[in-house]
Amino acid sequence: MTQVQHDEVKMARHGFHLKGLFPLIVIMIIGLFFKGHDDVVAQEQQSKAVIIHVGHIINPEDGSVEDNRFITIVDGKITAISKGQPRIAADLVDLSDQWVLPGLMDMHTHMTWNQPGLLPRSRSDYALHPVMNSSGFRALEGLRNAQDMLDKGFTLLRDIGNNANYADTDLRKAIEQGLFKGPTIYNAGKIIAPYGGQSHNISPEVGTQWDQEYIDADTPDELVKAIRRNIYYGAKLIKLVNTDQAYRYSYEDLKLAADETHKAGLTLAVHSDGDAATQDAVRAGADSIEHAFSISDETLRLMAEKGTYLVGTDFPYAHMEVFYGPERARRVVDNIMARLKRAWQLRVPMAFGTDTISNLPGKNRGEMALDYYQVWSGAGIPAAGIIRAMTIEPAKLLKVDSRYGSIAVGKMADIVAVPQNPLDDIENLRNIQFVMKHGAIIKNHNND
Ligand SMILES: [Zn+2]
Repeated sequence: MTQVQHDEVKMARHGFHLKGLFPLIVIMIIGLFFKGHDDVVAQEQQSKAVIIHVGHIINPEDGSVEDNRFITIVDGKITAISKGQPRIAADLVDLSDQWVLPGLMDMHTHMTWNQPGLLPRSRSDYALHPVMNSSGFRALEGLRNAQDMLDKGFTLLRDIGNNANYADTDLRKAIEQGLFKGPTIYNAGKIIAPYGGQSHNISPEVGTQWDQEYIDADTPDELVKAIRRNIYYGAKLIKLVNTDQAYRYSYEDLKLAADETHKAGLTLAVHSDGDAATQDAVRAGADSIEHAFSISDETLRLMAEKGTYLVGTDFPYAHMEVFYGPERARRVVDNIMARLKRAWQLRVPMAFGTDTISNLPGKNRGEMALDYYQVWSGAGIPAAGIIRAMTIEPAKLLKVDSRYGSIAVGKMADIVAVPQNPLDDIENLRNIQFVMKHGAIIKNHNND
């Protein structure tokens, strides 16, 4: 007898009028169906369980550490963190001598932009890049870059434009569909900007050559349309570049862009430098300010008050030297470090972002991302603060902290491990030996 039949008998016994209860019975039948379905799922999950025995788990919210724990992972998600080993059938991974933390995140990447040749970069190189490289080739370069990032522990990226005509969406989809291993990607689609994007001195005969990378949006109507066009073609956030021409958006334009973006449930990143422009973007409701190399304490305080993230793209000296030569590179990096330090002291929410667009000889995109530790620690930010800015803070910026950013029950199992304590020295994070994304082991050199 099914539960429903049993209940019918019971109700008849108690003299209930069945006709009036018909909707209730339908609901109960539906309920039973779902219960049955859950049982099936539970069985499937049971067979996919992984238990990781870890030496130390770092909580990125406050830098606290728990020792000797068992993390149970079922179907890509963390289902338990316990002191004893759960008695279930599972594959056991031994990281009992390792320091374990959530997967790293980079909030300012350009996966599909690989500036060719040696630096220094010139404006003409920049303009020629999309002319000389097809979207297909750049999508493949993007896959390589994304996989190099994942190998170094970056399980989630915000890919923030220069997207080779929506190759960023294709890259994200290919990874999501399991065609290739790669980090979780939140992509911005084309960069929206006042006329010309970030191009300069393109001859009138060539026309709007920058269309492959940027959408010109100079009026409120064009802004709304550009945002919708991006969302239509797969953008998971919106990026505006506001300060790369002699003209820029007004506060009203930025407010309109922020509102239109938020209505669609997305977040808005604004490339901004110069204090007045940045203050407009913060007041208008931007979720993050990119770069802001020159910014006043007043605007930093406003960011802290409003919860606006600084994604500082804090370039290391070794990268800048190739662009600018030693003297100018030193000045640029000193300024970046001083700005980073002020932002930290004023408690501005900060998320790690790299902004690398060309690979130095002998280094891939993932290895270059690790060079940024020097700048953050050089600015006096403690290792726990750097880890926070690479994990839980980016998850909050993207409003995905219920699923990502820490090792907690209910979150996706994005987990990395290193043999030495990164809280003692952030440089220890260069040596990531274990990477798991959504419960799948990407690499485990502990088995080597
Ligand atoms: Zn950038």
